[in-house]
Amino acid sequence: MADALLKRCLDLCRELRAAGGATGGAALEELESTLATLLARATAALPLQTRIIEQLREPIITMDLAGYVTGWNPAAEELLGYSAAEAIGQHILFLYAEEPDENGGPPDEMPELFLDNGSSFFEVRRRKKSGEVFWAGMSLSTIIGDDGEPLGLVSHLTEITHRRATEEQLRLQARVIDKSEQGILITDADEKIVFVNAAFTQITGYTAEEALGKTPDLLRSGVHSSDFRAEVRAAMTGAGPWQGEIVGKRKNGELFPQSVSISVVRNEAGEVTHAFSVFSDISVLRATEERMRQLANYDTLTGLPNRTQLNQLVGQALASARRNETHGALLVIDLFRFTSINDALGSEVGDALLREVGGRLRCALRNEDVLARVGGDEFVVALLDIRKREHSAFVAQKLLRVLGEPFLIAGHKLYVGAAIGISVYPGDGLETADLLRFADVAMKRVQKSGDTGYLFYSPEMDRRARENLRLEGELRTALVNGDLQLHYQPKVSLRSGRIVGSEALLRWRHPMEGMIGPAVFVPIAEETGLIFDIGEWVLDEACRQLRAWLDAGIAARPVAVNISARQFDAHLPARIQAALDRHRIEARLLRLEITESLLVRVPELVIPIMNELVAMGLALALDDFGTGYSSLAYLKKFPISTLKIDRAFVIGIPGDDNDCAIARAIVTMSQQLRQETVAEGVETEAQMRFLQALGCDQLQGYLFSPPVAADVFAAMLRTDRRLDCALPEKLAGD
Ligand code: C2E
Ligand code: MG
Ligand code: MG
Repeated sequence: MADALLKRCLDLCRELRAAGGATGGAALEELESTLATLLARATAALPLQTRIIEQLREPIITMDLAGYVTGWNPAAEELLGYSAAEAIGQHILFLYAEEPDENGGPPDEMPELFLDNGSSFFEVRRRKKSGEVFWAGMSLSTIIGDDGEPLGLVSHLTEITHRRATEEQLRLQARVIDKSEQGILITDADEKIVFVNAAFTQITGYTAEEALGKTPDLLRSGVHSSDFRAEVRAAMTGAGPWQGEIVGKRKNGELFPQSVSISVVRNEAGEVTHAFSVFSDISVLRATEERMRQLANYDTLTGLPNRTQLNQLVGQALASARRNETHGALLVIDLFRFTSINDALGSEVGDALLREVGGRLRCALRNEDVLARVGGDEFVVALLDIRKREHSAFVAQKLLRVLGEPFLIAGHKLYVGAAIGISVYPGDGLETADLLRFADVAMKRVQKSGDTGYLFYSPEMDRRARENLRLEGELRTALVNGDLQLHYQPKVSLRSGRIVGSEALLRWRHPMEGMIGPAVFVPIAEETGLIFDIGEWVLDEACRQLRAWLDAGIAARPVAVNISARQFDAHLPARIQAALDRHRIEARLLRLEITESLLVRVPELVIPIMNELVAMGLALALDDFGTGYSSLAYLKKFPISTLKIDRAFVIGIPGDDNDCAIARAIVTMSQQLRQETVAEGVETEAQMRFLQALGCDQLQGYLFSPPVAADVFAAMLRTDRRLDCALPEKLAGD
């Protein structure tokens, strides 16, 4: 800069001398020679400065006051990637890492801001030719001219990216440690706590002030053995990283499980200077795990093992049975009357009953016996080591005894009873699933008998069970395909001999096996629950037929349908009403035949439903009377209008004195109760006469007609077919 000015002065001097002639010529000449000397000196000095700058190992950039690059040494070239030729003449902004801000100004500091100070150091971000952005330490100084005026700027850059990154990393680590959800505790070589983070305080309840200077014994719960503690201490003194679960103690005294990992920090000499433990409170996790284990393996209602847990326990026992040739038994227990109790008294009573049953069964068993609840009212007992098969029979008897006692729940006295099926191993098999199925088959056999009791499984039962399974499948198809039919058996008055009604009896027209009677398939339908759908169909079909007869102008008589005990629930009245409504049938035209097994169920459940049906206008008949358990006196409690004397007692009439006596007792009693009597299965004239003489009201039997198809029955009604029952001395008439 100075050399240029000197050169300009020299040129002016020469011009003045050429233009001005002799005036002042000497002075000008002297000035000219002085300037020439100065210029020569300045020019001689320049390469030296340049050389110094060139040789400096620090990057140096010079700029004019407007920020345009005027100098660029090789170190700058090396750092920034631009050659001097590329850089000189450019505005310094070309090195900035950030784009200019929206006002067009440079994104960070402008050199002008620092000119006041003359020199300044600051950290800036710059971009290399390669595009790489780096942190640079920059010292900026002003070049002052001889006149004291600023001439330009010198910038001296050093790359500080590495240092910046380390600092940044430390800051980040500190933030991570503090914000971590895991508790962090650092101890020094004396095992004194020197650092804890916020999560530590949150988990343990101790603040940093309370913890610092103490040993980790602050959190000691006292539940661990000294061996375990020694292992943890060894890890803290550098025996190696350790990971595990430790029970800690919070400030409030509460114990909590924590998952801990411990590592140490060593100095250059390899000595442990610090140990740090990172831990998380896993009490919620543990509680959830425990809850999930409970849910997966235990029945929530009774707290007993569930099917999963049972399978596991029996599976283990069977594995050991294979090795050690031990014997065992599975008992499948199904409660009687549970469903109706649950339906009538509500699930709260049902639940309480199940809990009590579970409790009673458990008390009756030994500790080593397994008791599981595997379904609604189904329990399984596994006797995992018995010497004789008979032992399981003793256990079954004992369980039946405890269940035979009434249960007092919510003011109700409930009788349940149970069916128990037993399978034994290794005799019946060594697979859990097989043994459970076998015991189930035996249990179902007991159920079918209608009485409480127990049975051992036999292969014959299995064969029948399979046969039933096949029939069940086919029966479902029959229901859908319309292969079921109702036949009608007339009931005739023993006074007039006229048809006074009929009983609708189910028939299954099997595609391969021909007509199948209800005695074969109704029990299967009851067992499988298919009876609900079938019963529904029977009700609808009977009403539909009544409507068809009415529409055909036939004076319809009441039709009785058989209602299975399983069908008899609180929904029955509504279902019947719907069928009546659907076909516009008066209730008096429909009668219901129920069996005695229904009466031995909880009367307080059954009677309200019966009353409801009677209030609807339906008459109830007690079917197969005499074969069940109900005492005659007991009958008074039920709103029953008809007793049907079972065929079993009619067969022996009039030869068998016993049967005659029973028939007489039934008729007499029903007369006292003002109930109607119907004798079932009357096949002979002699039977008819005897019953007539007793005062029995109606008969139903082959003597008059077997069950027949609807059209055949309609023809009987149309022609007013009658039974010849006129007594020799008196003509019947009613
Ligand atoms: P139940 O209600 O006692 O029906 C009377 C049974 O005695 C009928 O047998 C009938 O055919 C038969 N029977 C009538 N008179 C005579 C006779 O003089 N001699 C002989 N040997 N038998 C006679 P079926 O039709 O085989 O029905 C058997 C049982 O199946 C019925 O006994 C009833 O308990 C049940 N059942 C029939 N239909 C239905 C139904 O729709 N629903 C339900 N739940 N059960 C039904
Ligand atoms: Mg019947
Ligand atoms: Mg009957």
